[in-house]
Amino acid sequence: MPIQPSAFEIRKTFLDFFVEHGHNLVPSASLVPGGDATLLFTNAGMVQFKDVFLGTDKRGYRRATDSQKCMRVAGKHNDLEDVGKDDTHHTFFEMLGNWSFGDYYKKEAIAFAWQLLTEVWKLPKSQLYATCFEDDKGSIPSDEDAASNWRIQPGMIPDHVMYFGRKENFWEMAETGPCGPCSEIHMDRGIEFCNLKGKEGHICSVNGDCNRFLELWNLVFIQYNRINSTQLDPLPETHVDTGMGFERIVSVLQNVDSNYKTDLFKPALEVIRTLTNESETQMLENFTPYRVIADHARAAAFLIADGVVPGNTGRNYVCRMIIRRAARFGTKLGLHEAFLAKVSNAFVDSYADFFSELGRNRQSIVENITREEKRFAKTIESGTAVLEGYLESLKKTGNNILPGEKAFELYATYGLPFEITRDIASEQSLHVDETGFKLAMDDHRLASGGGKAMGELGGEDARMYSALLDKLHSDNMIGAEGIIHDPYQTSPVQGRLLAIIEDGQLVREALSGSVVSVVVPKTNFYVESGGQVSDTGLIRDSKGSWEIEIHEMRKPAPGMIVHIGEVNFGKPKVDDEVIVLIDFDRRKDIMRNHTATHLLHAGLKKVVGEYVHQAGSLVAPDKLRFDFNSSEALTSDQLEEIEKGVNKIIMEDLRVRSAIKTRDEAISEGATALFGEKYGEIVRTISIVDQEFENKNSPRISYELCGGTHLTQTGTIGTFIITSESSVSAGVRRIEAITGRTANLLISNRFNDFRQLTRILSSTPEDLLGKTRILLEDLNRARRQTADLRSNLVLEKFLKQINDVPIIKGIRVMVTRLDDVEIETMRNLCDQFRQKYLSGIIIIGTVLNDRPLVVSAVTDDVVSRGIKAGDLVKNIAEKLGGSGGGKPTIAQAGGKDPALLDEALKSAFRYIEENLR
Ligand code: ATP
Ligand code: MG
Repeated sequence: MPIQPSAFEIRKTFLDFFVEHGHNLVPSASLVPGGDATLLFTNAGMVQFKDVFLGTDKRGYRRATDSQKCMRVAGKHNDLEDVGKDDTHHTFFEMLGNWSFGDYYKKEAIAFAWQLLTEVWKLPKSQLYATCFEDDKGSIPSDEDAASNWRIQPGMIPDHVMYFGRKENFWEMAETGPCGPCSEIHMDRGIEFCNLKGKEGHICSVNGDCNRFLELWNLVFIQYNRINSTQLDPLPETHVDTGMGFERIVSVLQNVDSNYKTDLFKPALEVIRTLTNESETQMLENFTPYRVIADHARAAAFLIADGVVPGNTGRNYVCRMIIRRAARFGTKLGLHEAFLAKVSNAFVDSYADFFSELGRNRQSIVENITREEKRFAKTIESGTAVLEGYLESLKKTGNNILPGEKAFELYATYGLPFEITRDIASEQSLHVDETGFKLAMDDHRLASGGGKAMGELGGEDARMYSALLDKLHSDNMIGAEGIIHDPYQTSPVQGRLLAIIEDGQLVREALSGSVVSVVVPKTNFYVESGGQVSDTGLIRDSKGSWEIEIHEMRKPAPGMIVHIGEVNFGKPKVDDEVIVLIDFDRRKDIMRNHTATHLLHAGLKKVVGEYVHQAGSLVAPDKLRFDFNSSEALTSDQLEEIEKGVNKIIMEDLRVRSAIKTRDEAISEGATALFGEKYGEIVRTISIVDQEFENKNSPRISYELCGGTHLTQTGTIGTFIITSESSVSAGVRRIEAITGRTANLLISNRFNDFRQLTRILSSTPEDLLGKTRILLEDLNRARRQTADLRSNLVLEKFLKQINDVPIIKGIRVMVTRLDDVEIETMRNLCDQFRQKYLSGIIIIGTVLNDRPLVVSAVTDDVVSRGIKAGDLVKNIAEKLGGSGGGKPTIAQAGGKDPALLDEALKSAFRYIEENLR
């Protein structure tokens, strides 16, 4: 058995073959067809060359070859229902092609195909079949030209050239336009591939219904222009358009009976198997879910890499649908947590070498898939339970078709795509009315699409919101001041849902899983400002039939406030009565941090100086950050004093008051306004006053102009801990701190560490510090002793060597290596050498901290004989990849590679012999 080529090699062989025959290698076009609104996805190689055939576009070449990314899940070409059930159809696949634009024609195209298949790839000629066009309607001439060309190919069995009619062998792009006959190459894979053995009347045949004959390659010959249903005009130029299924040819050349058993799918299937913990045999016994998951994971990765992310309409719907469908097949294998990204990632690994967009978009692929799976996980169980109910009652009625509106309901409320409903129904031999589903979907769109499509541009966006505001006002839904904003109201706000915006469009209704912006007449959600982050929470209808999880707030136009979030379940509709609920635990954490920020500000002024002013801040649920002007870092004493001061005020549980007054009044009372911040005439102030002075209204501990949300008592902060002090830029320092729950967590974690430390050191909390000190002293002593021992050893070695130094041209030359010695020691040893020998050279090499070092000393008389220590070490250093220098009598050098030290030291002898006069 010859070594099987990898898929990568097979693709390369195809492309190289045609390049060698004068074709231009062209990259795959995107899965999203450029400038073609009628086509959802690129579904064949010819899509990017359509205009060349039509004569409206010209390329700089007349022959091309490529591997085109294709997607067949919608429209004219939809193979979704085969995917998973068979081994030869995918949603996403690669189509290998060679192209002639008015250049060669049938003779060459057929010869190229035959040569590649039978000579390069050595497929058995006796198993290959070619089909040609013969009009079943008798009006278009048969393609005898192609047939005779097939018959003359070396080794082609004449009977294997067959004729088929328009359906199989006449290719038309559309109702009018370029078209022509085609020839398909099929391969007889052997009787063992027949999956209909024993079925009455079954005969295996080309274009038959079993798996024995596999269609590999379609060669299309464009020679007519269709004018109308009866008239075909010959084209002035003829073209060739071929498409070979890449996964199929790989399965043939790797000699496996399934595209999924090729190395294109192996790594991904192994990822799935590790997740399900099933053996290969178990997988093959229940192959469908594995096939679906692998196919869809690959398609999703390629879609997202081409910018198609999950969504509710068009291409985005397809991306959503395949991810959800894969997720449901995952549940059949016991996979309930988000897992698909791991599978897609395996494809990114193996495909990125050829399709670099996958590697570039790896993060986006993983994030989008995981997010979509998590979204679906929230509703899949309730969705399928409701569907099961529908199907049960359907069976009772004796009807076997689920109405389309019901399927739409399931999508709209539970995010169950039509295709999944159909899968589940067909598992129970029931059907779903697809036309009805589409009608219901269109109805919904018509009913919801009240507004015009709005671009993403800020100006457009602001205009749309101002127009919406005007409309709501003229309809008396809101007052002239716009949306009422009261972030200080702590009880939940109720009201009517005034507007839903999806993808920049006003809609009447949104579906489960959609990301929407919603408007209500009044809200208490805080909208990010003055460093305090926005609130998050929920908006749900008063009956509890839908819920939106709000994760972001915006003020897109003056007077307008929108809540942005994702529909958790149900179908929000304009005019529904709603309740607006802040995530109050989170809000309270934010309030703790905001009030603590004011105390920190006051503490800084007190401890560092009145000149300190705020230069930016962040008030989040998990921490606070405060930037201020200071040229120096704060000392740990200062930080401790500030932290203590803030905690003292917390324990005193002082009142935090807010008041509304004129700006002038507040400023004259000494309230702190932020540098560079604009305030209106009327301002809100936050003050914290020392109890003793409570009635006298002075002195205040903290008094600031501030619109943020605050606690009413400082005690609620709980604990305040400064976690860091650092520099932001010249003259600006930053303090980060935590409070409340986060601070408590940190304390208990630290205590845990402390307890463990006590246990590890077999100590008690009281003795821990003393014991640690003793241990450190012991350690240092032990280290010192080891160092002493080592230097004694070195000295001993050195003293042994110094008594037995070779003589070169009458002088003593000592070259030695002593590892782990400091430079200082090496210099001392050099001196000892010079004291012992009045005439000589010494070179000591060492490896210290993984670096080679050399020190050398030369006596004066030797310097005058032509050897200078500086030159000598420089010469050695060159061999170590380093440099060095010094005086003629003593010098040192350092290098990079310690492995070269011995060689380098040895080379010194040669240098000395050559240069010593
Ligand atoms: P089939 O009849 O097998 O569905 P087709 O006639 O639809 O194929 P073409 O439109 O001629 O196929 O596409 C050219 C080649 O692309 C086919 O010969 C086949 O090898 C491959 N191909 C087509 N559809 C798929 C698919 N869904 N998945 C993988 N390969 C495919
Ligand atoms: Mg097909």
